[in-house]
Amino acid sequence: MNKTTYFWFRRDLRLNDNTGLIAALREHSNVQPLFIFDRTILAHLPKDDARVNFIWTQLKGLQAELNTFGSSLRVEHGLPQEVWKKIVEDEKVDAVYLNRDYEPSALERDKAVQFIVESNGAEFHTFKDHVFFEKDEVLKDDGKPYTVYTPYKNKWLEKYAKTNIHVPKPEPELSLHYAKSNFKVLSLSQIGFEKSAIIAPDYRLNGIDDYDLHRDYPAQDHTTLVGHHLRFGTISVRSLIYYAIPKNKTFLSEIIWRDFFSQIMGHFPHAMTASFKSKYDRIVWRNNEEEFAKWCEGKTGYPIVDAGMRQLNETGFMHNRVRMITASFLIKHLLIDWRWGEAYFAEKLLDFDLASNNGNWQWAAGTGCDAAPYFRVFNPTLQMEKFDPNLKYVKKWIPGFNASTYLTPIVEHKMARERAINTYKEALNT
Ligand SMILES: Cc1cc2nc3c(=O)[nH]c(=O)nc-3n(C[C@H](O)[C@H](O)[C@H](O)COP(=O)(O)OP(=O)(O)OC[C@H]3O[C@@H](n4cnc5c(N)ncnc54)[C@H](O)[C@@H]3O)c2cc1C
Repeated sequence: MNKTTYFWFRRDLRLNDNTGLIAALREHSNVQPLFIFDRTILAHLPKDDARVNFIWTQLKGLQAELNTFGSSLRVEHGLPQEVWKKIVEDEKVDAVYLNRDYEPSALERDKAVQFIVESNGAEFHTFKDHVFFEKDEVLKDDGKPYTVYTPYKNKWLEKYAKTNIHVPKPEPELSLHYAKSNFKVLSLSQIGFEKSAIIAPDYRLNGIDDYDLHRDYPAQDHTTLVGHHLRFGTISVRSLIYYAIPKNKTFLSEIIWRDFFSQIMGHFPHAMTASFKSKYDRIVWRNNEEEFAKWCEGKTGYPIVDAGMRQLNETGFMHNRVRMITASFLIKHLLIDWRWGEAYFAEKLLDFDLASNNGNWQWAAGTGCDAAPYFRVFNPTLQMEKFDPNLKYVKKWIPGFNASTYLTPIVEHKMARERAINTYKEALNT
């Protein structure tokens, strides 16, 4: 009997331009695609988690595509190490192919799986797919990692200009190399989940040409909504970049931020749990739980902050400009540890990504590698006047909004600003 080659889907839920999958199909003739719902990750999520719903819908789509080739997607629910142990012990497996995942916990998991697979005599092949450039591909001339975005971006662009990377042309003949199989996708209830009220939106690339003119105005709703698609790999970052390069430089710069934060995570994993610059760990946070609850619910009395948090709670998305305002408000105005906000966003965002979420929260807190200086404190009222001058965004997320009867602010701006600056100063001078 033919040995089976497995391709393990994770953050790459697509058949086209999927580096590891294409390599498996080119090199083997009996490739069985597999996805594992990881019990350890699922255990921390609400039963109606919108991301689990999104993944599940994508798996159904993959299943339908694979069925047209006489193949199918095998879906398991368990601990990846245990699932793999059983597969390689019970079946004749010659190799496992997968695309790399760079989160610290994923690296550990994959190392353990590699050991299991190789101990059972099968090969284990990993590929770059999730990012455009990996952490060691864009380094300073002295071989050290960049910690400041602009020089990183310049080097990224220089490297891009010299690299002949291209989106592979479809190779329809490869579809013959999928294993003939008839697996079914587990239902949501079989993995302990239920339908979410939030449906992840499709991405839209038609506004990229004038992205820079509109991207900062939340009411214009002009950004691409590609975040969760990049997160789960329902679009290839290469295809996106090739598409964007001739169209809009600002958009490309935003995508480069994603690679930047990914390489920060790779080179400085300590920053995933502590301040990138350790002296900032001395800040004495107020961490008032009632105020935190008001922030989470969108009841701070600052309309733009509240509108943003309500958008997040209702849709799993928040516009980038408003993410910056809400994050700054939590950290500076309320002096709540940025990790509380980071964790709340991680729970709610459809596009939650450890490296980008952490990098942006540290940026807002001023604790990060390439952060805004701590003494620059966003004024939420001025931000609203500038970026939502007609209150269109505010009114969308706070129906019936009326400035004269709206909630009293839970903190006064001038006092909060001075308090934040003094608290930072004290921490940094001790
Ligand atoms: C406090 C805070 C937390 C954030 N958490 C996340 C997160 O968990 N996951 C995430 O993908 N982005 C995060 N961002 C960055 C940004 O807000 C989102 O990427 C963007 O809003 C997603 O919407 P979009 O796809 O329509 O963006 P677009 O404006 O259309 O941008 C396209 C893509 O570029 C990338 N990008 C844009 N801005 C950034 C940025 N500042 N950092 C990294 N990548 C960027 C994303 O992949 C994004 O999808 C965060 C920003 C802040 C201020």
